[in-house]
Amino acid sequence: MFKIPSLDKLVHELSRLPGVGPRSAQRLTHYLLKNPEFSRELRSSLQMVEDNIKLCETCYNYTDNNDGLCFICKNPHRNHELMCVVEQPEDILQIESSGAYQGLYHVLHGAISPLEGMTPDKLKIAPLMERLNHGSFQEIIMAVDSDLEGDTTVLYLHQQLESLKIRVTRLAQGIPMGSDIDYIDDRTLHRALSHRTEV
Ligand SMILES: [Zn+2]
Repeated sequence: MFKIPSLDKLVHELSRLPGVGPRSAQRLTHYLLKNPEFSRELRSSLQMVEDNIKLCETCYNYTDNNDGLCFICKNPHRNHELMCVVEQPEDILQIESSGAYQGLYHVLHGAISPLEGMTPDKLKIAPLMERLNHGSFQEIIMAVDSDLEGDTTVLYLHQQLESLKIRVTRLAQGIPMGSDIDYIDDRTLHRALSHRTEV
């Protein structure tokens, strides 16, 4: 610590960022002090995000469009019969960069985890059901994380969607590209065998 309250406060705030420990926070603080122009631009960017970024009224992705819709929901060339359900807005960026998907999205903003107080009412599940009831979706792809919370969420949504007669799929789970079978854990290998496909 600098023993200077205003600098120590900045170190403290920076150290709260994911992946930034106290040492890195001190280095970043030094960098900001030595680069006032960068500090001003950073402050202005943070202010713009705070002022302009909101959640899309339809899919709950981030947007700064004045009409409240994100660039994906506004795009008439996307497949409006296909929906991909994700946990967080950043998951959309990942799927988009794959270039393999042309449908719409719905962001839950978390996954069901009763132990951590994440019950279905805390997620964007009610508006998801509303969209599905009033839209013309043919297929819902569950692109949630491959963990206990993701599994619980898929199970819950599957039960909720049963009466809608919409095809429900989940991203294939198994061995990552370029990996060696010797190093795959039992659970992953179990899933890879259960989800095996024709060659
Ligand atoms: Zn949207």
